Amino acid sequence: MRKQVLIILAAAGILCGCQQKKTCTEQAFQYNVDKFYDLEILRYDVPEFDSLSLQQKQLLYCLSEAALWGRDILFDQNGRYNLRIRRACEALYQQKDKVQCTDQDWAVFEKYLKRVWFSNGIHHHYSEDKFLPEFDQAWFVAACEAAGVEYDAAILPVMFDPAVMPKRTTAQDGVDLVACSAGNYYGEGVTQAEAEAWYAAHKDNSPEPLWIGLNSQLVKNEKGEIEERVYKVGGLYGEALEHVVYWLKEALRYAENDQQREVINKLIAFNETGDLKLFNEYCIAWVKDLDSRVDFVNGFTETYSDPLGITGTWESMVNFKDLAATKRTQLISDNAQWFEDHSTTDPKYKKEEVKGVTAKVITAAMLAGDCYPATPIGINLPNANWIRKEYGSKSVTIDNLMHAYNEAAKGNGFNEEFMIDDEIRAIYNQYGAQCGDLHTDLHECVGHGSGKLMPGVSKDALKEHASTIEEARADLFGLYYLADPKLVELGLLPNAEAYKAGYYQQMMNGLMTQLVRIEPGKDIEEAHMRNRQLIANWCYAHANGEMEIIERDGKHYLQINDYEGVRRLYGELLAEIQRITSEGDYPAAKEMVETYAVKVNQDLHKEILERYKKLNLAPYKGFVNPVYCVERNEAGEITDVKLDFTEGYIEQHLRYSRDYSPLPSIN
Ligand code: ZN
Repeated sequence: MRKQVLIILAAAGILCGCQQKKTCTEQAFQYNVDKFYDLEILRYDVPEFDSLSLQQKQLLYCLSEAALWGRDILFDQNGRYNLRIRRACEALYQQKDKVQCTDQDWAVFEKYLKRVWFSNGIHHHYSEDKFLPEFDQAWFVAACEAAGVEYDAAILPVMFDPAVMPKRTTAQDGVDLVACSAGNYYGEGVTQAEAEAWYAAHKDNSPEPLWIGLNSQLVKNEKGEIEERVYKVGGLYGEALEHVVYWLKEALRYAENDQQREVINKLIAFNETGDLKLFNEYCIAWVKDLDSRVDFVNGFTETYSDPLGITGTWESMVNFKDLAATKRTQLISDNAQWFEDHSTTDPKYKKEEVKGVTAKVITAAMLAGDCYPATPIGINLPNANWIRKEYGSKSVTIDNLMHAYNEAAKGNGFNEEFMIDDEIRAIYNQYGAQCGDLHTDLHECVGHGSGKLMPGVSKDALKEHASTIEEARADLFGLYYLADPKLVELGLLPNAEAYKAGYYQQMMNGLMTQLVRIEPGKDIEEAHMRNRQLIANWCYAHANGEMEIIERDGKHYLQINDYEGVRRLYGELLAEIQRITSEGDYPAAKEMVETYAVKVNQDLHKEILERYKKLNLAPYKGFVNPVYCVERNEAGEITDVKLDFTEGYIEQHLRYSRDYSPLPSIN
């Protein structure tokens, strides 16, 4: 599970905990890299890298290489034409001198390619709608011909015809979710009913179940039967996984301890065989590895992009522990049982013993696959419920990415436009970043881990609404406790007023400002956005004076009159969402999502978009990675690793495509 960035973080003079440890190098660091369409590219710093030992730096380097080699996999998972399209566009891009066209035409083409890189394919990374080039097919065909670029003609309708593969992952009611999704988790001609029947027939109901389907594509064979193509060395995506395995083996040489060696060994074996039992063993070993400073995720992980929520999307994030900030989340984690016992949920849905909630803050050192360029700000893994129950889970927040967001957003005018008055702006400027961090910590460290399912309730019971409900549950848990005196007592917030910054921000975002990410007339589809609107809309609908939306000079603003009352509403909704989860009450989940989470108030949406447009901001952010510069001795051993922070967005993607692109165009 992952936590995505809440909003376009705004506000001049935001107070961020990380600022204090920064010195004058701050001014020199360029956080803003590029901006196009609704996207902004930032750069993240890797503070404390120099405090690592040479061995840890060597380990980071090898894991970073293992991360980069998986990039093609995600392109192919996102759509079976993506690699062909990316390669044709890159080839053309590098033959500019052979193409006769205006600068304007070229700029439009360059923007398209930059967008393809950002989305790891041709569908918007967030809305999942296909984006169309602003140049037409005739221009593209002529340019490729002039430049001598060969391509598969099958990509043309996929690129240019809006009716072909319009949606990457659809969650729309009443349609064949598999057939109507462009994602490549199912081969051509496979229907939802066939895929579901296959999963049902192969489901593992043992106490330590294998996650059947996690690492495979379902296809139809010549006889029309459903068959599994497993992601492994020698199988589907084997050409990329070979390189991943090579670098994992290199990493073994620099592992910090035996537990970490076991993690890496299990992951290698899993990649080599595709054996899901090894994947379970890897997950368990990974959860147990708490002492290593360096850690990583590498593999088929989150299932949001599979319309049936089974198959993992490839991602990697290499990181190391931020020692100071980890103390903060450790405190929350140490109090997990107190949070569980004092929440508003029915005692029968509470865990008698909350265990294994570990908490740490990390510094990202390499992002790849589904974590790049757009990235989550926190992760909570593994995803298998039985492992979480038996062995616990690891939950992290990523401070250096949050810090980059905050730095890049300073003074952009967002809060001046959307927050109702100076009073709330002042509170937000003072405590907003702190509340954001804390809410993320609570969500990840105690939110997801709280509560239990009633006996016999399946983890799949809420079906297509499971992600939205689960994210709402974790968010509400965090929101409820953000206002608790316990946080002040623990020294996590400075006073009893500070939480208001978080409450106002969450409510404003869910009711209004997150709509800047939605195109006019569209519904909300993404699970995290649905969750935020669900919470805000439900509370608003059930409010009795606690808050209101007021109009001033034709603009609407959220006004919160009673923050304690808002907390009561969060508590009530938390109890209900926990009940739905614990009971596996699908009809109630569906009703809740459909009533509050999906539909958008059209008039308000229009107004928000107009106000937002005037600010000229990009709602989505992504990152470029640092470049790892390795020095070796004559024996070929790594003697030093340094990070370079000067590479641009285009240069980085062209380099990745040149140096880390092992997959054939058709897989
Ligand atoms: Zn979450």
